[in-house]
Amino acid sequence: MKRLLFALLIVAVLFAGCSGKAASGKPKIGAAIYKFDDTFMSYVRNSITENAKDKAEVEVVDSQNAQPTQNDQVDAFLSKKMNAIAINPVDRTAAASIIEKAKAKKTPVVFFNREPLAEDMGKWDKVYYVGAKAEQSGTMQGQIVVDYWKANAAADKNKDGKIQYIMLKGEPGHQDAELRTQFSIKAVTDAGIAVDKLAEDTAMWDRPKAFDKMKAYLAAYKDKIEVVFCNNDDMALGAIEALKAEGYFAGKKQIVVVGVDATAPALQALEEGTLLGTVLNDAKNQGKATFDLAYALAKGEDVAKAGWEITDGKYVWVPYQMVTKDNYKNFK
Ligand code: BGC
Ligand code: CA
Repeated sequence: MKRLLFALLIVAVLFAGCSGKAASGKPKIGAAIYKFDDTFMSYVRNSITENAKDKAEVEVVDSQNAQPTQNDQVDAFLSKKMNAIAINPVDRTAAASIIEKAKAKKTPVVFFNREPLAEDMGKWDKVYYVGAKAEQSGTMQGQIVVDYWKANAAADKNKDGKIQYIMLKGEPGHQDAELRTQFSIKAVTDAGIAVDKLAEDTAMWDRPKAFDKMKAYLAAYKDKIEVVFCNNDDMALGAIEALKAEGYFAGKKQIVVVGVDATAPALQALEEGTLLGTVLNDAKNQGKATFDLAYALAKGEDVAKAGWEITDGKYVWVPYQMVTKDNYKNFK
């Protein structure tokens, strides 16, 4: 009897190994985040783990901003027979080889936050993307500046009718960095306001890097700067820190700073009046959609029934929202 039980146990373990199901019977999902040390991605990561509770066994790994590390992690997920994988690529052009490997093992993939090229997305039907329309965030950020500019004549410090601005960009090549940079300015010029770019450089989504860049710009352009556009809130907060050190935001020395994400410290800055506005990059829903899709795929179910609108058979677009002093309390 004991022997029989033992044999059955062995069979059960082997079977679990083959089908990829966890011992608990729940589907197994492997998730890789481009780096844990990114404020916005930590919100998305938390949302994935929360949504997975009681439903799936999710293994989340830190790719430490290195594509070779992530490639190894994907290999490990595939050899562990994960039922689906959710990948936030370090380098979005690496998606092609990830898709090929996953396809060979028939393991569905959900990419998120860093959008693979359309030609790569087309390589297999079990490939999805969850993200937000980068153009939309740029347009909304520009709109916040337009509204303020039109209502506050003092914002035009040198009274030339143009906006003298600094652009702090995210990581070059990232769709959110490129399109926010482009569409924020487009919204301003479309509103009939001329612009004068003083400087533009990447601060890699990073607060300390933005602080250093802003310090240098303040030394170079002094009080000529009227608006600081930042592709995300972390960089806006870094810029604000540098501005504070130069006496800004006290009394008459004002300046416009805008970001994207609506992180908790950014909402705090909005309340204090240092950050003029931001755009909600909805981490909660991006994390939920990523999990819901991966979960449906892991169970071999129809993704269309996962509760999200799927565009072009592959994309879930989570909308952005403008956040200013008027409505920031709704996002806390
Ligand atoms: C966010 C940034 C973040 C980046 C990571 C963007 O959508 O706005 O804050 O650093 O994604 O890929
Ligand atoms: Ca001006």
